[in-house]
Amino acid sequence: MIYADLHVHTTYSSDSSILPKSLVEGLVKHSFIKVAAVTDHDTVRACNITRQLASAYPDILIIPGTEISTPNGDIIVLGAREMPPAPWTVENVLDFTRERDYLSIVAHPYREYGMGDLARNYKVDAIEVLNGGSSQSANESARELAKQMGLPGTAGSDAHQPAEIGTVYTEIKATMDVDEILHAIKKALVSAPQIGKSIRF
Ligand SMILES: [Zn+2]
Repeated sequence: MIYADLHVHTTYSSDSSILPKSLVEGLVKHSFIKVAAVTDHDTVRACNITRQLASAYPDILIIPGTEISTPNGDIIVLGAREMPPAPWTVENVLDFTRERDYLSIVAHPYREYGMGDLARNYKVDAIEVLNGGSSQSANESARELAKQMGLPGTAGSDAHQPAEIGTVYTEIKATMDVDEILHAIKKALVSAPQIGKSIRF
């Protein structure tokens, strides 16, 4: 079992103060969350540098990814090492994700820039059912959406500051390997436990 924060922004997002180095240090220091996905807004530019920094520590792992702003809401693509071709419509992003065997997650569906009920129209791989920046009711609606769509639920802090890293986490039945983690999520070998008061509102 591994514990992963699947939604973290670095300074390669204009609204985050988390240096790639700080993310790595956060994982090194954390007692059990040793995996994080870099999901900057509309770029994968931080992924290589963060993975390089992490490679000095055998017990931590950085999953490359991005959070893409589509006209219908944000989609996280895990595994992505490059951006899809423009325009970034939901269809284009999902086609790109499927062709390359990446993983698509509907980010915070019931918050601003979320897809909301529109997510029901698309073949996505997972729903973010626990987002560190969403209200409890928005997270509960997301969990219900995942249940109704029969999709796995993931958790991510949506950290934009170092102190927010790891405020929520996804439990995944996998070893420390990116491809194995993505397949385990697709097979729903995941859970996103509620951890009460550490959730930000
Ligand atoms: Zn985000």
